[in-house]
Amino acid sequence: MRSDHMSRRAILKRLGVGGSAVGVSLLAGRGFADESTDGDPERAGFARNIRKMAPSLQDVPSASLQGGKVIQPARELPVFHTTDVCVVGGGFAGVCAAVAAARTGAKVALVERYGSLGGLFTNGMVLIVIGTGERVNGEFRLVTRGLCEEFLRRLETLGDGAIVCRDPKVYQPTVDPEAAKVLLDDMVQEAGVDLFFHCWGVDVIQSGQNVQGVVFESKEGRQAILSKVVIDATGDGDVFFQAGATYQQISHAIGFVYRIGNYDRIDKSKAPPDVKLNLGSLEPVKSARWVNNLGPKGNGLDVRELSRIETMHRKSAWNYVQRIRKTQGHEEVFLMQSTPFLGVRATRLLEGVTQIDKRGAVAGDAFDDVVAYSGDDALKKPAFAIPYRSLLPKTVENVIAAGRCISCAPDLIDRVRLIPVCGVTGHAAGVAAALAAKGGVTPRAVPAADIQKVLREQGAYLG
Ligand SMILES: Cc1cc2nc3c(=O)[nH]c(=O)nc-3n(C[C@H](O)[C@H](O)[C@H](O)COP(=O)(O)OP(=O)(O)OC[C@H]3O[C@@H](n4cnc5c(N)ncnc54)[C@H](O)[C@@H]3O)c2cc1C
Repeated sequence: MRSDHMSRRAILKRLGVGGSAVGVSLLAGRGFADESTDGDPERAGFARNIRKMAPSLQDVPSASLQGGKVIQPARELPVFHTTDVCVVGGGFAGVCAAVAAARTGAKVALVERYGSLGGLFTNGMVLIVIGTGERVNGEFRLVTRGLCEEFLRRLETLGDGAIVCRDPKVYQPTVDPEAAKVLLDDMVQEAGVDLFFHCWGVDVIQSGQNVQGVVFESKEGRQAILSKVVIDATGDGDVFFQAGATYQQISHAIGFVYRIGNYDRIDKSKAPPDVKLNLGSLEPVKSARWVNNLGPKGNGLDVRELSRIETMHRKSAWNYVQRIRKTQGHEEVFLMQSTPFLGVRATRLLEGVTQIDKRGAVAGDAFDDVVAYSGDDALKKPAFAIPYRSLLPKTVENVIAAGRCISCAPDLIDRVRLIPVCGVTGHAAGVAAALAAKGGVTPRAVPAADIQKVLREQGAYLG
């Protein structure tokens, strides 16, 4: 046991029985809800609301150094929650997966390491939704329908400032990240999903090839969620990696998005004619512009590399905006916000039952288990089909991948990882997971026709 770990008895001894105000909060913080509140009703309510922590979270044997090796002793983990479908990762793919699974009748939990939804889309401030469609006979056709479209259309109803479309004939809108976060919360809550923020999925519960839930870390320690199906929407394949599924790891450019403020106070007529500045792209918020950048190639799983790239990017964004401010007519521009979520584009890609690639996309490969379509951001190439088997690991059971870590060859990742495409693969994963859980079978055993039927009922486009 840790030397700084006080037992309840030791805490009481230190405080004196009866407890002061400080005593109440200290005990409460350790899970001993104490009713001795000195008659203060507000504090009494506060104390009563505190959930008791499982004893096994408090008396945790620490790791120890044995012969130069750090050994973590075996221990029991408290079961925090039991559900049908557990979605790990609350990016756009994870939200679509969770909402779809709940609407298909499953009990769903959504576990997210940060305190808001949307992942790279909102927290990463990647605001423009491209890859939504294709051009057919000169006309734009939207292919990322269903939940993805529903989300964007609902943003339109939030009023001026939530979403804007540069070209009304082509539905590739830019959104306000704050409006998007609120709407994602709403959609998850309306669907009855159990939402757990500030939980980092770190392991799976597994018997042989069968995954039975996930282990997560939070401020309370390490706990378990039991579930029939787990959806890996972490973007980086954290779940299938822990489950031992095969995957391919790639390096991609790691970017860093930031927004500049007071764009509407720029007087371009005052700037010298030879000055060329990147002032970012159109946003629904008129005074702001968002600046996307490519960044250096790197390993998005290596914390040393991520730390180096992040500090480098931050300094460079700051310096660039200072340069803009020194330009005549641009003095009021300022660095309004930089992303708290580094722009890791791709890391682990699942080696699924089927892998989609550029050749197949160009050839227009058809799949009898198609569950989604990806459009093209430049609207030059046709949409391509995404089969259910590209969401399924080869051997591991009860895990479905969604979003930017599905099974695709590196030559196609730049079309698969687009926001709306992550949304539609999430939608498909959610429906499949719910059908598996309700039918008492593994996701692999769910007939594709059943998934397609529900997806169509929920507005998805399947060609
Ligand atoms: C710099 C940059 C520019 C881009 N530009 C565009 C563009 O212009 N248009 C476009 O459509 N797309 C663009 N993209 C791609 C797009 O933004 C992403 O690929 C897409 O949003 C990914 O969605 P996702 O849900 O699959 O993953 P993510 O958005 O990465 O979401 C994963 C979620 O899981 C959470 N998470 C991760 N690991 C764990 C864990 N172990 N436990 C719990 N939670 C976890 C994360 O916090 C996050 O919320 C860009 C990407 C980058 C990086």
